[in-house]
Amino acid sequence: MKEQIQAELRQLEEKTQKRVLKDISFFDDPWIVMNGRKLLNLASNNYLGLASDERLIEAGCKAMRTYGASATASRLIVGNYEQYARTERALIKWKQAEAALIINSGYTANIGIITALIGQDDIVFSDWLNHASIIDGIMLSRAERHRYYHNDLNHLESLLKKAPSHKRKLIVTDTIFSMDGDIAPLEGLVTLKKRYNAILMVDEAHSSGIYGEQGEGLAHYFRLQNEIDIQMGTFSKALGCFGAYVTGEQWLIDYLMNKMRSFIFTTALPPAVLGSIEKAIEIVQTEQERRETLQTHSHYFRHELKKLGFHIGESTTHIVPIIIGPNDLTVRFSERLQEHGIAAVVIRPPTVPEGTSRIRFSLTSSFSKAELDWALEQIACVGKEMGIIP
Ligand code: PMP
Repeated sequence: MKEQIQAELRQLEEKTQKRVLKDISFFDDPWIVMNGRKLLNLASNNYLGLASDERLIEAGCKAMRTYGASATASRLIVGNYEQYARTERALIKWKQAEAALIINSGYTANIGIITALIGQDDIVFSDWLNHASIIDGIMLSRAERHRYYHNDLNHLESLLKKAPSHKRKLIVTDTIFSMDGDIAPLEGLVTLKKRYNAILMVDEAHSSGIYGEQGEGLAHYFRLQNEIDIQMGTFSKALGCFGAYVTGEQWLIDYLMNKMRSFIFTTALPPAVLGSIEKAIEIVQTEQERRETLQTHSHYFRHELKKLGFHIGESTTHIVPIIIGPNDLTVRFSERLQEHGIAAVVIRPPTVPEGTSRIRFSLTSSFSKAELDWALEQIACVGKEMGIIP
């Protein structure tokens, strides 16, 4: 068995698909030191620069001093200390939701929500490019699975039409796709879910904090918050913390609290994390300028990359891929970017389809315009040197 596994690892290495950890030794947003080299960070999900915000750090420390370093048990046992109630109240107010539940991470939220709601007698419809945690939740649920072509409402409708009307049906989508930076057609999805009596779940991991008047997410931005049954998102990205949430009607939250194994059978989040989340929810609603800066940067960055001749797919957000294709070329591109002072991460199969390896840039409001221009210069220089752009 050991030899087989080692052979598999060698195969991954030959295909330039073997993953290795990098040493991050310094953090002064938006700069990091990675493997000993100071780099401008175009690879983090710290979209609003909140991860190093003193107010979040202070709030985390205060909660830890009050409640200790650990929750000491799962929430349903004795882990539900009062900081949870405070943070969930703030979340409900922010999202104008009937009810909400904080869950330990986005990954365990998606697995838990999906497996709680559907089983082998049910049917799920999932966008082709949904996040791995959604795909894993679907596989664990053992429901009949249909993947519809990316953002293709016609394909989804043709699949819904064939599904028996008495079966429980779940449609699930990312709102911003994590490797492509494009947006799901939420209005069309709401129409279809109503027409075919399905329930709709959205993953706002990359949009919460960023879209909507107070950063509530894309459901609010499109004024569909009362039409979408299950809104899940994370605190680990724009909110600069860790953990995840789900909002919806009371019946949903009551049901999840009773059925969701990844909620029931795990230790509650540490108090420090909950304290920081509460503060991040407060800040994200008021500091509109962070969202505006991110939008301005994103628009400029996409526009400039396209002008240079890069293929950035369908991105309309702060997640901007440069799609290159072959693994080895993409890896080389990222290495050269690092030599030029840019932290940019290679995304390869199986995370993305074969032949579409890419560099996934993610932007932050922490960049100055000068830093963004400098990054674009470096990207252009490497792109030309490697013959990726003219
Ligand atoms: N959903 C999406 C769309 C994501 O991109 C991610 C993480 N990259 C997750 C869920 C998982 O969230 P977390 O990192 O909090 O586990």
